[in-house]
Amino acid sequence: MARGSVTRLLLILIALTLCVVFFLALAPMQDAVCSCSKTKSEGKQPKERDVEPEAEDSSITNGRHKIAILVPFRDRFEELMEFVPYLSQFLRQQGKSYKIFVLNQVDKYRFNRASLINVGYLESKGECDHVAMHDVDLLPVNPDLLYKFPEEGPYHLAAPHLHPLYHYKTFVGGILLIKNEHFEKLNGLSNRYWGWGREDDEFYVRLKKANLQVSRPGNLTTGYRSFRHIHDKQKRPRDNYRYFDQREKTKRLDRETGVATVQYSIESKRELTIDTFPVTILNIMLECDVRTTPWCLRPEDHQWYLNQTKDKPQR
Ligand code: UDP
Ligand code: MN
Repeated sequence: MARGSVTRLLLILIALTLCVVFFLALAPMQDAVCSCSKTKSEGKQPKERDVEPEAEDSSITNGRHKIAILVPFRDRFEELMEFVPYLSQFLRQQGKSYKIFVLNQVDKYRFNRASLINVGYLESKGECDHVAMHDVDLLPVNPDLLYKFPEEGPYHLAAPHLHPLYHYKTFVGGILLIKNEHFEKLNGLSNRYWGWGREDDEFYVRLKKANLQVSRPGNLTTGYRSFRHIHDKQKRPRDNYRYFDQREKTKRLDRETGVATVQYSIESKRELTIDTFPVTILNIMLECDVRTTPWCLRPEDHQWYLNQTKDKPQR
């Protein structure tokens, strides 16, 4: 009996020793997985860093800089609930000073991402010296995606070689960081783009004309999985219709409208927290001059507009 117990004990001890040896042997392999963990990190929060990763690079250290995260928004509640805590933690891990502004469009017109960003800029510039134009449904996954304070020109974080969907060379949408001075110099974005798309492409032309170079992250091992795009196109269809003479009128560079001409009022301002992370909600009423951009109207208001303009000379 007693000898049996001793034998069993010995067997258990041998098994335990073998387990320890096995795990020790695995350790270097886990390191290797760690170096390629960039490819496996989708959907997970990056690990807390003790040290600012590139603290020696003054362009990404805080100094006196603060970035306004400008989030054009309408009817994306679930995405926002995920966005605010996630991005806040991501930016805190990078030691950034930032403030999130949700630019909630509350008027009756079609969505206008560009005008909302212009408004966000005007409302944040007293407090922040940089802006990030930031889609609510695009979450950085790879911790090597650094939210910099670019000095020379804009920094396009959601670069074509990293964005899950848009891969053309001149793409500057999704997430673009720029200092206030440059945003002002470009007169912000055109206010003519009601509905989905093209406002970012027009902004690219503004950048070209102003000789501002776009910089982007280098090659990351995560490629098109560097971001998570929480966008179900059935649930969140894109309003990519073109009404009246919208197509022709939005083809070329807009030399007239921008941050200096955006017409709006702030219906209200709310300071909220989502899972303890602060966020400022601006409820924005955009104004639209229907005589120059009638395509700001929703289709249900087209008949009203046509009745109004009947027999009146077009300007
Ligand atoms: N957006 C919004 N409500 C809308 C349309 C767009 O909040 O009805 C905002 C949101 O921040 C979104 C961004 O505008 O991430 C870009 O729009 P969308 O995601 O439709 O464009 P995509 O980049 O997916 O083509
Ligand atoms: Mn999207």
